[in-house]
Amino acid sequence: MEIVFRKIENWIEGDYIKQKKLNEVPLSAEKGLKKGLKHFVFAIISAAIANIFLAYIIGLNPLLKIITEPIDQHLIGFVSILIFTIIFYAVFAYVREIVCTVICPYGRLQGVLLDSKSLLVAYDYERGEPRHKVDKSTTESSSGDCIDCNICVHVCPTGIDIRKGTQLECINCTACIDACDMVMEKIHREPRLIGFKSEKQIQTHQPFKFGKRVYGYAAILLVMISAMAILIFQRSDIDATILRASGTLYQERSNGTVSNLYNAELINKTAYPVNFSLEPEKGTEIQFIQKQNSIAKGGTVKLTFFVIRPQKSIAAYKSEIQLKLISNGKLIDLVKTTFIAPPNL
Ligand code: SF4
Ligand code: SF4
Repeated sequence: MEIVFRKIENWIEGDYIKQKKLNEVPLSAEKGLKKGLKHFVFAIISAAIANIFLAYIIGLNPLLKIITEPIDQHLIGFVSILIFTIIFYAVFAYVREIVCTVICPYGRLQGVLLDSKSLLVAYDYERGEPRHKVDKSTTESSSGDCIDCNICVHVCPTGIDIRKGTQLECINCTACIDACDMVMEKIHREPRLIGFKSEKQIQTHQPFKFGKRVYGYAAILLVMISAMAILIFQRSDIDATILRASGTLYQERSNGTVSNLYNAELINKTAYPVNFSLEPEKGTEIQFIQKQNSIAKGGTVKLTFFVIRPQKSIAAYKSEIQLKLISNGKLIDLVKTTFIAPPNL
């Protein structure tokens, strides 16, 4: 909102005061042009975000198919892009900060992490109070630096008065900091009457220092990033699901063996084709009905096969077996599944 949409809005319609004036004047060619251009650019960016979002969910290749092939072949995909575009456009053009203050739970959770040493957008009441109306002829005053111009309240997208203290609605957009700095410059006072400050810093007039919480949170974040990095590095190239064919039992064979029928689905999670083989554990045999040895990038393959074991090796009706998924001579996964057969009593 602040880095893309608000910047475009400011670029087309001017700063907050100009925007307010434009909203109040009756419709004219200039107003129509500015509003039309803004909403057109917003819609284009929303469509781009919707496409990126869908690519993240369904993958780039399926998205390219939706975009390049006739609409009637991908009606659901096309409608999804349209719905996401409308949602993103509505959020950035109209709903805006209501998402931060009412809809998104993340902002509410963040409040729990704060204490008096947290760095936030804050009004320096020690410096600003008592407020007084400006007297442009003087630069010195026994009263505080706040001239009660209310510009910080006018520019606030969530409509709060930061001088009343930290509030849940503050989205740290810093608009009030810039506005107040401009006022301070005009009345020849030091900037940052509103700025990133901690409550402790305002009270003690000491420079900001990291509190214990910052180190604690940093440590937790480091642990989480490390755990995620380990999971990413341990992620196998192929995701395999092997299940006994539904509705089938075991098959007793004339050569003293017993078999179970399996269906497998293998998904290649990489951006390149992968060769693979499925190998049984010792004392077990695999007989393929439907076989394939490679998976295209991002593709899936389905296999159907029997697992055959000697009847005399069966100790229980239901047992667990493991199949080795091997790629380029490397074991990439050990897939577990169940095998049923009458036990050899
Ligand atoms: S913009 Fe600055 S001077 Fe004006 S009311 Fe807000 S805090 Fe006070
Ligand atoms: S940073 Fe200032 S302008 Fe932005 S939401 Fe918070 S109080 Fe309002």
